[in-house]
Amino acid sequence: MNTPFLWHNGRIKPWSEANTHVSTHALHYGSSVFEGERVYATPDGPAYFRLADHTRRLFESAKVYEIEIGYSEAEINAASLELIRANSMKSAYVRPIVFRGAGGLGVLPKDGAPVEVALMAMEWGAYLGEAAERGADVCVSSWHRPAPNTIPSWAKAGGNYLNSQLIGLEARRNGYDEGIALGHNGLLSEGAGENLFLVKRGKLLTPPSSAGILAGITRDTVITLAAELGIPVEERDLPREALYTADEVFMTGSAAEITPVRSVDRKPVGSGKPGPVTRGLQESFFGLFNGSTRDRWGWLSFVHAV
Ligand code: PMP
Repeated sequence: MNTPFLWHNGRIKPWSEANTHVSTHALHYGSSVFEGERVYATPDGPAYFRLADHTRRLFESAKVYEIEIGYSEAEINAASLELIRANSMKSAYVRPIVFRGAGGLGVLPKDGAPVEVALMAMEWGAYLGEAAERGADVCVSSWHRPAPNTIPSWAKAGGNYLNSQLIGLEARRNGYDEGIALGHNGLLSEGAGENLFLVKRGKLLTPPSSAGILAGITRDTVITLAAELGIPVEERDLPREALYTADEVFMTGSAAEITPVRSVDRKPVGSGKPGPVTRGLQESFFGLFNGSTRDRWGWLSFVHAV
């Protein structure tokens, strides 16, 4: 999984040299914000997908928690490109992270306490393994998403992923590929690390951005591509039973990409196989990287000048 180099606090360095002290604030209090993004091998060489949008969200997450990144968005974007060149990678999963460093304990960070910034690139295949092809078997979790006035879901912070771990661990223990959480109001929210889409009578349905979800960049991509394909999309409140009566269900994420769901709580979704709307959206999405879908939105950032 390791690559020769990462970027840490302003410079490229060997992977093994980026260490942190055990008193690091983020270890004790969850004070990190991060991203997960992909570099795809395209006919014009490696390209980040929606790099600027990921970097923007990283800065917004940091702003919510009053963490000063100390670099500009342009500097992080440039460093992200440099990282892939330094490792001579053709494709990658990239993890930027910003965290409160070793500046003394105490929940409230001390004035002037250090903030560390790192970018890591890794080889990483399909997030949910073979489920990406055959369709995932998911359950509705007994764990819910935090209420919006507790942990803000739009900020992608390390601490949020304690909830995701509970959802994911329960799902795995019970033999499922992934768990889907309800929100504080008992309505559908999202997967442990993915947004959720349902297809019903040719229409795409997805919980609204107020449903305790991360405002996913892949979710936004799918909504945009669906409009191109003439598929109507409704962002709206959905009850749990909408999952059981949907024609198709799929999940989206930078790691998960577009992963079909073939069963929920052991009940088959539709025919029990990835359906035509999901397949069509996958084709359109992956077409961005093989050249069959034209990038009309400037979503690709090429690592080498083209
Ligand atoms: N929800 C959660 C909880 C996630 O961790 C992710 C992955 N970042 C997503 C949704 C999907 O977001 P994106 O498409 O921006 O990766």
